[in-house]
Amino acid sequence: DQPLKGKRVFVTAAGQGIGRASALAFARAGASVTATDIDETLLGGLAAEGGIATRRLDVLDDASVAGAAREAGRIDVLFNCAGMVHSGSILDMADGDLDRAFDLNVKGMVRTIRAFLPAMLEHGDGCIINMASVVSSLKGAANRFVYGTTKAAVIGLTKAVAADYVTRGIRCNAICPGTVESPSLQERMRAQGNYEAARQAFIARQPMGRLGTPEEIAALAVHLAGATYTTGQAYAIDGGWSI
Ligand code: NAD
Repeated sequence: DQPLKGKRVFVTAAGQGIGRASALAFARAGASVTATDIDETLLGGLAAEGGIATRRLDVLDDASVAGAAREAGRIDVLFNCAGMVHSGSILDMADGDLDRAFDLNVKGMVRTIRAFLPAMLEHGDGCIINMASVVSSLKGAANRFVYGTTKAAVIGLTKAVAADYVTRGIRCNAICPGTVESPSLQERMRAQGNYEAARQAFIARQPMGRLGTPEEIAALAVHLAGATYTTGQAYAIDGGWSI
């Protein structure tokens, strides 16, 4: 059963975590996947998978994005997964933190959408999926000032793109996960000193009593790629955090 057979999918930040699981899930669904990341070494194992080509891509770099878009040509699905977590309140924030996070979490998506959208419009068909978070306009979380601000902007840009192109075959939706087991989450738990206590605290905010898996989020991305009657929506997938 390959619902995305013949579809061309482009994924950013596919080196690890949700992006990697999504590249694999898209390929399993029959798509031809271009899996990209700023860190080429992380892409190594993916190239061996059927249906996946890999490429270095820094979404902060206009020239890198333009080059990747030229090479990829028209794609059916763009999954903007690149993003980073900044921890702290508005008063903890150092100069430049918000600009840096905005550049990656928001403008990274603006760059890829501007590069890939014209060919989608020419074809009259295209699906854009943006990685937001439930920590955004959906929910506030302690010590996530910069992160929540940028992820709320991702929902705003998702709705703006959806509204502008809804009559021209383009769908644009956002995915809003709760806490998901990924390499960067592991780093955040280790960085807090007491790993077990940090882990329990992350689990405690998930009413289902466990963290999400990258594969669970990837399944929603695959679903949205084929969900042809939805656009401009922010899909929470958060273990009940935002109930
Ligand atoms: P992760 O944070 O472990 O990995 C991030 C990946 O992004 C790495 O492979 C890194 O090399 C790549 N990257 C960093 N800068 C880049 C750049 N400039 N250009 C291209 N790639 C770059 O993965 P994750 O935790 O699964 O997070 C993926 C996305 O999901 C992020 O946008 C994150 O905000 C979002 N998210 C994660 C969680 C979670 O709990 N893990 C929850 C909600 C949303």
